[in-house]
Amino acid sequence: MSKFIVGVTGGIGSGKSTVAGLFAELGAGVVDTDAISHQLTAPGGAAIPAIREKFGEAFINEDGSLNRTALRDHVFNHPPARKQLEAIMHGRIRDTVVAALEAAAQPYVLLVVPLLIEVGSYRPLLSRVLVVDCEEDLQIKRALARRDMSLQAVHAIMAAQTDRKTRLRVADDVIENNGDLKSLESVIRTMDRQYRAMAAEAH
Ligand code: ADP
Repeated sequence: MSKFIVGVTGGIGSGKSTVAGLFAELGAGVVDTDAISHQLTAPGGAAIPAIREKFGEAFINEDGSLNRTALRDHVFNHPPARKQLEAIMHGRIRDTVVAALEAAAQPYVLLVVPLLIEVGSYRPLLSRVLVVDCEEDLQIKRALARRDMSLQAVHAIMAAQTDRKTRLRVADDVIENNGDLKSLESVIRTMDRQYRAMAAEAH
């Protein structure tokens, strides 16, 4: 793809969505795989018929959306079901991502992928990888503040995600998100200028 695309990743609560939002305020495009996954499983979503067929009506809410809690529990207790769900979701998410990237008219686009390192198939689309990193204590505090999630659940997700070291090894750029929002904003203003310059040069 000829566009300048920056892949954004980081652990749960590291600040990916916050970072993407701040770049967007400065005029960057943002494509978010989590948001796309939610759209695909919302009422009338493109993944709903396949999920209904594979897993049954018990996993679909009355409004036609995915019953996330039921499917999460099922997948957790039946490992092969995870593969089946991934087979339904991955291709659809990727197709939607590619279409959104192609449609984006901004000077550069951030592609937010929590599982960028684990999934791998997004890497060929990217000009650079930006990792949002923060100290683990802070990460846990922020993850708990944002979501209706137990400490145990946050720990379990962190244990399943790529470890910090591995993530940092693939980074072209790193945002150390250990400070307040003001300092984050200032870091992002600088990076926005850099990405604009890189994108202009790439054309
Ligand atoms: P992620 O998308 O990586 O899971 P979020 O961007 O949702 O993380 O951030 C998690 C929580 O931490 C949010 O409530 C967000 O407002 C807060 N947060 C992120 N960065 C900062 C920061 N630099 N200062 C204060 N709060 C922050």
